[in-house]
Amino acid sequence: FSRNRTNKGDFVDVRSPLFCVGGQEKPMRMEEKIKAGTLNAADWLQILRCSEWDDILRQTADQLRQEVYGKDVYLRGLIEYTNFCKNNCYYCGIRCGNTKAVRYRLSKEEILACCEEGYTLGFRTFVLQGGEDPASTDAWVCSVVSAIRERFPDCAVTLSIGEKKKSSYQAYYNAGARRYLLRHETANPEHYRHLHPAELSLENRKRCLYDLKEIGYQVGSGFMVGSPGQTLSHLVEDLQFLQDLQPDMIGIGPYIAQKETPFAGHSNGTLALTLRLVSLLRILFPYALIPATTALGTIHPQGRELGLQAGANVVMPNLSPTEVRKDYLLYDNKICTGDESAQCRHCLERRMASVGYQVVTSRGDSLNI
Ligand code: SAH
Repeated sequence: FSRNRTNKGDFVDVRSPLFCVGGQEKPMRMEEKIKAGTLNAADWLQILRCSEWDDILRQTADQLRQEVYGKDVYLRGLIEYTNFCKNNCYYCGIRCGNTKAVRYRLSKEEILACCEEGYTLGFRTFVLQGGEDPASTDAWVCSVVSAIRERFPDCAVTLSIGEKKKSSYQAYYNAGARRYLLRHETANPEHYRHLHPAELSLENRKRCLYDLKEIGYQVGSGFMVGSPGQTLSHLVEDLQFLQDLQPDMIGIGPYIAQKETPFAGHSNGTLALTLRLVSLLRILFPYALIPATTALGTIHPQGRELGLQAGANVVMPNLSPTEVRKDYLLYDNKICTGDESAQCRHCLERRMASVGYQVVTSRGDSLNI
C-alpha cells in the first residue's frame, strides 16, 4: 500500500446532506473501499455518521498496523512539567482564566529525576508537556533538553509546549529535541474561534506545524473528538488537513468537560466516534504513530485497550511526580493521578498484554524518516 491511500483531490461538498445507506449494495461498496484504502471525503463522512462499518474498519486498521508495526506498542514517558499557561483556551483546565487551578512548575533537577526513574523503567522517549509558561524561556528549555540528551544519549526527547517562533523551535532542535507534539485542535477556522480566544488563531497554529516540519522534527498533530460546536464535517476537514500536513504522529482523544471552564457541562466526546476515527486514521496513515490516549482511558475503563485494537500503537504512561499529577487537570476525572510512575508503566504493560500486544522499549522513531 502507498503511504497516502486516499485521493486528495477527490473532495465533495461535505455540507450536502448525506445519509448512512443500509441495504445490500452500498455497504458492500464501502467495505471494498475500506479494504482497498480508496476512501474519499464523502466516504469518510458516511463512515463517521454510523456504526455500520465499525467492524470492517477495525479489522482493516488492525491488519495494516500489524503489517507495518506487528504487535509492538511503543512507550512514551509523559512528564507534565508545568501547568502555568498564558493562554485561555475555553476547553482546557489549565487555562490562565482558571483561578482554581493550583499551579506548579518542575525544576530542571526534578525533570531529570523523572527521566532517571523512567530510564530504569525502560522508557527511551521522554515527552515534556506543559502549558505555555512564560517562565520556561528558550534558554531554560534548551538547557533541560541538552541535559536529558547528555545523561540519556540513547533516548529521544519530545516537546509539547505550544506555539513558538520558528527560531525557538530551531533552538530546541539544536539542543537535541527531535519530536514535537502540537495538535491543531480543529482545522475549521470558525470552529477554532469558537474554542479559543481571539488572540489565538488556526493560521498561527498551522504555521507552527509547518515550521516544525521544515526544521526536521518528527511532528505530531491531532484533535479532540466531540469538542463543543464540532460537526462531522469539521472532522472531515481535520482529516483533510492531516493529509496535507502528513504528520509522523497523530494524537486524538475525546473532548472531556472540565468544571472550571466556560464549556463545563458540555457533553463529552464518545468512545465509539473516537475509535472509529482511530481506525480511519490508521487506514489513511498506515505508518503513523498513534497513541491510545489517557483521555480515551478516562471515558471508558478499557478505552486504551480498545484504542489499540482499533489501530493505535503508542501508549504514554505518566512519569510526572505523583504530588503534582492531580494539578495537571486538563479535564475532569483524569485517570492515574494518584499513581506512581512504576505503577502506570506496569499497569499499561499488563493492559496491552491482555489484548495481545507487547510493550517494547525501543525509541520507536517514525518509519517515515
Ligand atoms: N500547551 C500545549 C499542550 C496542551 S495540552 C499545546 O498547546 O500543545 C495537550 C492536549 O490536551 C491539547 O492539545 C488538547 O487537545 C488536549 N486537551 C485539552 N483540554 C482538553 C479537554 N478538556 N478534553 C480533552 N482533551 C483536552
